[in-house]
Amino acid sequence: MTRMFEDGKLVIASHNLGKVREIRELLLPFDVNVVSAGDLGLPEPVEDGLTFVANAKIKARSAALASGLPALADDSGLAVHKLNNEPGIYSARWAGPNKDFGTAMKRIQQKLKNFDDKSAHFTCALTLCWPDRHAESFEGKVFGHMVWPPRGNKGFGYDPIFIANGMKVSFAEMQPKAKHAISHRAKAFKKLVKACFRVTK
Ligand code: IMP
Repeated sequence: MTRMFEDGKLVIASHNLGKVREIRELLLPFDVNVVSAGDLGLPEPVEDGLTFVANAKIKARSAALASGLPALADDSGLAVHKLNNEPGIYSARWAGPNKDFGTAMKRIQQKLKNFDDKSAHFTCALTLCWPDRHAESFEGKVFGHMVWPPRGNKGFGYDPIFIANGMKVSFAEMQPKAKHAISHRAKAFKKLVKACFRVTK
């Protein structure tokens, strides 16, 4: 049976400030006291899983065991269809140690230049793990296409080059609330909340 979150305090198992901000915003309607792995000085585990869910489990378990609190991890990334779904689970690594997404976005543009089909999707896997290692995982996707040059300065990562189906502006041009209405993270979040959270605010 799915376990409910009834613990009050939750660690966001991420050192990515963009993700931590979005997860905090998504958790606002719930009575949850949120602290990030960065705030607690928790180590970043090696993400050697071969799927988004496997990596989300590694991060959530590591933070739950290190903190003694339930931990929520997000593993996510961009899959460009004509590039065999690259960069996929390597989305963060394509930006290098300096997290240079300008270069990562140019690399995609370069590799895709001879293809008319610019379709892509984002995937987000969320894992909620308790200190006794019990874990619940959920996945969400959003489909769209790549655009150049990069547009907008909101969001993070590959947001400036992604336009979701049915939209005219990139994720980086959308207000956070509008992105949260349709994003891969919001879709995974809806499943997590339906299964594990009670709305209290
Ligand atoms: P990881 O899950 O921490 O390994 O990294 C996921 C990477 O995927 C991020 O660093 C971003 O590059 C990319 N990514 C995931 N979600 C989003 C999003 O909502 N917008 C833009 N880029 C994203």
